[in-house]
Amino acid sequence: MSGPDTPDSYRFEMGGGHWMFGVDQALRGMLEKYSSLCEYSRNAAVFFPETGLTVPYPIQNHLLALPKTIARRAAGEMLAPRSTEGGTLDAWLQNSFGPTLCELFFTPFHELYTAGLFRHIAPQDAQKSPVDLPRFRGAFERRGSPVGYNARYLYPCHGLGTLMKRIAEDCDVRYNSRATALDVSERIVRTEDGTVWPYESLLSTLSLDRTLALAHLDTDSAPDPYTSVCVLNIGACRGSRCPAQHWIYVPRSRSGFYRIGFYSNVTSEFLPKRIRRGSKYVSLYVERAYRGGARPSDDDLRSYADMAMRELQDWQFIRSVDVIDMTWIETAYTWHIPGSRWVEEGIALLAHNGIRQAGRYARWKFQGIADCFREGLQVGAELRTNVPHE
Ligand SMILES: Cc1cc2nc3c(=O)[nH]c(=O)nc-3n(C[C@H](O)[C@H](O)[C@H](O)COP(=O)(O)OP(=O)(O)OC[C@H]3O[C@@H](n4cnc5c(N)ncnc54)[C@H](O)[C@@H]3O)c2cc1C
Repeated sequence: MSGPDTPDSYRFEMGGGHWMFGVDQALRGMLEKYSSLCEYSRNAAVFFPETGLTVPYPIQNHLLALPKTIARRAAGEMLAPRSTEGGTLDAWLQNSFGPTLCELFFTPFHELYTAGLFRHIAPQDAQKSPVDLPRFRGAFERRGSPVGYNARYLYPCHGLGTLMKRIAEDCDVRYNSRATALDVSERIVRTEDGTVWPYESLLSTLSLDRTLALAHLDTDSAPDPYTSVCVLNIGACRGSRCPAQHWIYVPRSRSGFYRIGFYSNVTSEFLPKRIRRGSKYVSLYVERAYRGGARPSDDDLRSYADMAMRELQDWQFIRSVDVIDMTWIETAYTWHIPGSRWVEEGIALLAHNGIRQAGRYARWKFQGIADCFREGLQVGAELRTNVPHE
């Protein structure tokens, strides 16, 4: 969150909706010291813009919502003996879900979500496309039982920004102090304001590629790829066909986005107070992926935002737009080339130079906020016990 969070404003998050899944009792207790947490049941779907069809997520467990012939063919393909060959995400999707569901949803969706990388990268994040055994429990029921990693989630009742601000008050955080160089022989970090920070051991949550670059350390293997995400936040008059879901996955869009989340369908706190009653307004976020290192110009991003808003108006999700805000997340999703050893090499090389990597991007692996908190608390405790007493 940036800017004032007042009752008069729409509330957006810089990285799009961040819903906290996998929070255990211990972490919940720690977080609740700072903010009460509200609990939600996921309400997500796949949306097909060309027909207007909405299928509950995950699509493979809700075949009944598809036209009968497609559902039957898809079920037959998923039950057929499958090959275990093929080390890419594309091959894994084909093997897991078969050609019908891939053509309909998985292939075009992953084309957008991975910015085309899915034909080259190793399968990962299987929890996002759960293959449930017995595979079709729920596939032909009206209400399939919820599956997947985020079937229930928590969100701070007064916003994630408020939670983070309160936690930060207990810490020593230096904002606007970008690390620009890391001298591993002198053991110092330089920040852009000219400050020099000596260290004995360093914990870095910067992405693995960035930490290696700052430290001028080279691995034998080439870096694994990543994708960036442009998050377009919109506050608008709600259109007549605006979904009721918390978020929807979109396999095809003119402007290239792959997911739309509706903050205000989770809680009306994301709307200005004066327009919270009734359902005339909506606060939403739209995500589009780009290949890592291929950030478009600001003009191109503005053209994309105009196009995306027009598309949402054509779909009658929104009418007039009150406000927009865009954020660029340079390293949003990290991927692996099959067989690559870059991550192990990079982490080991940094450790050898007294730098410990912690967090989702630092260790180049999928994990949500809850896992990052747990990891941070654990590593912090370990470091404290190893600090020599004065
Ligand atoms: C589009 C998207 C949606 C997501 N949705 C969810 C969700 O719904 N639920 C969920 O649990 N997780 C979600 N995540 C994942 C979540 O954002 C991450 O798990 C979490 O933010 C990782 O925390 P971290 O502390 O490891 O890294 P980060 O949050 O990336 O923290 C690293 C920090 O380092 C700072 N930094 C970078 N470079 C420098 C530098 N040179 N000098 C100083 N500081 C620097 C950055 O500004 C940043 O604040 C989502 C991620 C994306 C991209």
